[in-house]
Amino acid sequence: MGGLNDAGQLDARNAMKLKTFAGGLHPPDNKQWSAHKAIEVCPLPALLVIPLSQHIGLPAEPCVKPGERVKKGQTVGRAKGFVSVPVHASTSGEVVAVEPRPHPSGRDLPAVVIVPDGADEWLDGIETVRCDELTPDQMRERIRDAGVVGMGGATFPTHVKLSPPVEKPIDTLILNGVECEPYLTADHRLMLEEPQRIFAGIVVMRKILGVSRIFVGIEANKPDAIEVMTKLCAGTGVEIVPLAVKFPQGAEKQLIKAIVGREVPSGGLPMDVGLVVQNVGTAAAIQDAVTFGRPLIERICTVAGPGVVEPKNLRVRIGTPLSHLVAHCGGLAGDPAKIIMGGPMMGMAQLSLEVPTTRGTSGLLLFREEDLTLAPEGPCLRCGRCVRVCPAHLLPTTIAAYARLER
Ligand code: SF4
Repeated sequence: MGGLNDAGQLDARNAMKLKTFAGGLHPPDNKQWSAHKAIEVCPLPALLVIPLSQHIGLPAEPCVKPGERVKKGQTVGRAKGFVSVPVHASTSGEVVAVEPRPHPSGRDLPAVVIVPDGADEWLDGIETVRCDELTPDQMRERIRDAGVVGMGGATFPTHVKLSPPVEKPIDTLILNGVECEPYLTADHRLMLEEPQRIFAGIVVMRKILGVSRIFVGIEANKPDAIEVMTKLCAGTGVEIVPLAVKFPQGAEKQLIKAIVGREVPSGGLPMDVGLVVQNVGTAAAIQDAVTFGRPLIERICTVAGPGVVEPKNLRVRIGTPLSHLVAHCGGLAGDPAKIIMGGPMMGMAQLSLEVPTTRGTSGLLLFREEDLTLAPEGPCLRCGRCVRVCPAHLLPTTIAAYARLER
């Protein structure tokens, strides 16, 4: 395996051989605050707000009413169409409202509001099955019914990604364990602490897609995760690929280019070049859905940044208000001037901590006024550095010139 020595560890000499893409840059990754913190279970909040829109595609349609009692894992919103997924109760309790609530998108959007009863009682009839007894179609159905979406932040319905049309044959599956966004360490901890869930998800996808070429891409700044995954996958045909530490190494197109050298056409999808890419967290959710019939009602989320007292990696129920996550991390370390859901590069700025955690919430970052710097704009020296680092081969200088001319 490129980049590792005989002992299965990264070394400086081998680091020269790490695969990557052209362009990109390495902002300070600031992962040291939470990378060593084991996943902690975030306690249930007093109120769960479960948005009906947590994915790309049509929002789910509510199928419960205020006053109704629900159990953990029960469908509270049905999928509307193929590119849509159902949403589920993250615990047992009483539905107290079905109404628009503040959403991470910045708007008020329909949500199912549940007051937990504390019993945390699973829905009856959730059955464990043997994966090898299911057909690919049955597996896809269980993945859709469980509401599994891309957990790297894109939230595209996973059953759709795993249903490529016949005219687009798939020969390769890539697992994305890159986590190149600064501060985020949720996928890192998942690979260290629950690698079997990821591997079991890979086995399911291998059967669905009928592929034999499988890679797991991991940035070289996670040597312990590379080691764990390498040992687990030894002799299985799944290859672990250490990658250069560079943003945006985890973007689908850059990841594909780095690992297999294929170029996804502009406006195209990985399936256009015979590939499916899934996040490692999604693989774990696929295993829960297919083998255990468990819907996606919780996820790992990194809470970090200088604005929080104690950065942590939390296992959080979907629908938990961000303020509850902060409280479990020792509270605020000052007035938050910037709240970001996700990473600092691609995440979404939030107006308040009262919005809920969704299936795509990989992180919550908090910054105070004194942590933010905005460098004044200076004259362009025509050095060309921005052109060289742009991973999409754009010309930032030309775009800036047009923007100034308001064109
Ligand atoms: S805008 Fe681009 S070309 Fe101009 S000085 Fe900055 S990096 Fe160099």
